[in-house]
Amino acid sequence: MSCIFCKIISGESSSKILFRDDLVTAFRDIHPIASTHILIVTNRHIDSVNELEPEDESLVGHMVMVAKELAKQEGLAERGYRLIINTGAHAGQTVFHLHLHLIGGRLARFVA
Ligand code: AMP
Ligand code: ZN
Repeated sequence: MSCIFCKIISGESSSKILFRDDLVTAFRDIHPIASTHILIVTNRHIDSVNELEPEDESLVGHMVMVAKELAKQEGLAERGYRLIINTGAHAGQTVFHLHLHLIGGRLARFVA
């Protein structure tokens, strides 16, 4: 198993877990682009949005609901935040394990 996110989820690679349930795990991005930069990752390895099946619809909805709760906890609910899923190399996807970026607060560096 070489996937870094699978290693974090399994505990093989240590990372401070912010949230975890049956479906998703959330932890802070190692290279944050803003004061809040959290990744909400599916517990099951799915390469990207391209590999989602119709039965994964509620899983994707759940990722967004978890992001919403974490945004509230981070104090971002009122001022706003971004939820991003990069899909494929040309979109800048570097880790091919499905994840949702929750980005908010003071930007550390610019991203499109
Ligand atoms: P993406 O470019 O959408 O595939 O996002 C991958 C993100 O994972 C990048 O923002 C990386 O900084 C982040 N990342 C890579 N390795 C780790 C790690 N070990 N722990 C936390 N975040 C990571
Ligand atoms: Zn994985």
